[in-house]
Amino acid sequence: MKKKNAVKILILTGLLMLFVSGCGKDSSMEVTNGHIDVDTQALNVSAQGSEDISQEISMEIVKPAEETDEVLADNGLLEEGLTDDDTEEVSEDALEDEAVEEVSYVEVTPGAVEPVALNGVWQYANYSKIGSGTAALYRAASGRKNVVIGVNAGHGTKGGTSVKTYCHPDMTPKVTGGTTASGSITAAAVSGGMSFADGAREADVTLRMAQILRDKLLAKGYDVLMLRDGPDVQLDNIARTVIANNTANCLISLHWDGDGLAYDKGCFYISTPDGIKNMEPVASHWQMHEQLGQALIAGLGGAGCKINGGGKMAIDLTQTCYSTIPSIDIELGNQASAHDDVTLSKLADGLVAGIGMLY
Ligand SMILES: [Zn+2]
Repeated sequence: MKKKNAVKILILTGLLMLFVSGCGKDSSMEVTNGHIDVDTQALNVSAQGSEDISQEISMEIVKPAEETDEVLADNGLLEEGLTDDDTEEVSEDALEDEAVEEVSYVEVTPGAVEPVALNGVWQYANYSKIGSGTAALYRAASGRKNVVIGVNAGHGTKGGTSVKTYCHPDMTPKVTGGTTASGSITAAAVSGGMSFADGAREADVTLRMAQILRDKLLAKGYDVLMLRDGPDVQLDNIARTVIANNTANCLISLHWDGDGLAYDKGCFYISTPDGIKNMEPVASHWQMHEQLGQALIAGLGGAGCKINGGGKMAIDLTQTCYSTIPSIDIELGNQASAHDDVTLSKLADGLVAGIGMLY
């Protein structure tokens, strides 16, 4: 992922130049053929403009920008993560900058599938305990939207229950019950999941659901980041979340609830409990999680899928606590729910409709 970092540095170079030029004549940053000199004082001044940008800068700037040739050769990766309006503007400005004007941009390869590994420099990556696997980024073949939907087939990590990770990045205890009890500091890195009334394993059904959803999204022109692309992936919940944070526009985790009920109670999303709304990164992102959750429930309801009550339940989830993009755990029913392909296809249609309300 070094190449991507180098590309990010070029983007950030454009960003920095914008900020520094906006700060007056004391510009103390120079960019020459990919080499970046930055006065840290100027960096602090420019970073005041945006918390997100300052995080990126502090993360990226420590890496030397010695890979200009690689960047030139491999700048197709620039597409990744540049789908929101702000970064598009920045990349256009970066294109106009002398330092990168020789870069010739390569489009992503439509229809390609790219492995995505956890990058140790990403925020919260060091909280992951199982991170040796790779996600798979599927590129839409046509009608491309340049939007990456993170799809996480819940569960499915061998050894995931015997490893513990921190529930919260600040190591405070969990504020609600759920799979892990309230008050816990750590939780299973990946829990085992439930079994349906007919004996089917939740982990197998979530994978099938993810595959059906992936194909429908690709057909609509979305790129799809499959956080688990097979029966087992050696990526814990934190690793999956962090990969999505850095490569997708949003993250949707697929689950069915293990509630012991004998009837299908319908779909709902896991909303953010009040007790963690002041903790970062939740504080800065929970409203976008809610927006995504509400859109998915609206889409599912519109597709004729059963919705449970108000369509949400507040639970303190590891995923929520490490997400810096719109991120939702959606429960598509419980162990009494049908999970044949026709049912899963209908659920996928609902999810695609919900995604279409936002992207
Ligand atoms: Zn589950």
